[in-house]
Amino acid sequence: MQVHPLQRRPFWGKVKMNNEELSGDELREGLLAWFGENSRGLPWREHYVPYQVWISEIMLQQTRVQTMLPYYERWMARFPDAPSIAGAPEDDVLRLWEGLGYYARARNIQKAAKILVKEYGGEVPRNFDLVRKLPGIGRYTAGAIMSFAFNGDYPAADANAGRIFARLFDIAHPSGSKEFAEAVWDAATKLLPRGRSREFNQALMDLGSLVCLAKDPVCTQCPVSDCCAAFQRGLTGVRPVKAAKKVVTQIVRAAAVMLKEGRVLIRKRPASGLMPNLWELPGGDVPESISPEQAIKRIWLEELGIRLGPLVSLGVTKHSHTSFRVLLHAFLCNGDSPARSLETGPHMRWASLNELEKLAFPSAHRRIIKALRERLAEP
Ligand code: SF4
Repeated sequence: MQVHPLQRRPFWGKVKMNNEELSGDELREGLLAWFGENSRGLPWREHYVPYQVWISEIMLQQTRVQTMLPYYERWMARFPDAPSIAGAPEDDVLRLWEGLGYYARARNIQKAAKILVKEYGGEVPRNFDLVRKLPGIGRYTAGAIMSFAFNGDYPAADANAGRIFARLFDIAHPSGSKEFAEAVWDAATKLLPRGRSREFNQALMDLGSLVCLAKDPVCTQCPVSDCCAAFQRGLTGVRPVKAAKKVVTQIVRAAAVMLKEGRVLIRKRPASGLMPNLWELPGGDVPESISPEQAIKRIWLEELGIRLGPLVSLGVTKHSHTSFRVLLHAFLCNGDSPARSLETGPHMRWASLNELEKLAFPSAHRRIIKALRERLAEP
């Protein structure tokens, strides 16, 4: 059997890194014994079905376990295997993902599912390189799938594991830097116990979630505190070193709701860029020099050829992305619809309130729809 380069590392008794040398055996044994008694019962851990492991790992990117669990349950009820996603309409996939954000993840799952159906009989292949080639799967996720689903000897260091290694080995590189990522990967590879990778990698994740917390780690309950350089030196509060703060810009946008015979005008976002292919209430950016109301009237006139009449505010919603924050002003067109001659098609249409529930919208627009429903329910 061919051995993957990631698996050729020696099995170290002592692990030396970053001028720190600790007993790899002591650390492994402490961690594995702790996991045996404290592991979190998560649905994809019941049978380690590769498909379920894959979906859970993609959902957990940028998302906490408690937040993703209801999404995971809904997803598995609707898409229990790769063929069911491969053949589903994209709108259904995006609607189930709505609220998790980073929609490229859902789109990549569907692309990968199609490959699985076409090339691997609908199953996740038991091969690191093939898994890594699937859309949306990088080094970490491929390692996680291989070790959790197949108990293959591959490292899988997520943010929790990264924080633990930064403290165990007193790694001083800022988190988010290339040097930090490589030091963590190196540690994860050197410490991996052959034949017990599934438990070991998950033990790191659980220890990071339950004990080695980002703020205020509970070192008195830690099974590996004897091996922890940062703990011994009183440096747990400054490890890992924080990455430089990103500048978060604020964008002001406006959107409007037009009703015609109980249906709402919606349009599809472009196929590339931010939140591609999601539906939205037509609108756009508000320039600094004019009010949101003036801006929405200008946008509708220029982009849809519709001159809006009086507007009623539906409120302001906030939504945060990684590097910017959106303030969205929502309006209800209060007057006769001048849009009778509007050209509709696959990217612009009138939808009933019930249909809106089946289509995927950005979270801020979903909140506007909720405000609209409440307004329409008023006497
Ligand atoms: S001793 Fe504290 S800082 Fe070190 S690994 Fe354990 S919980 Fe984390």
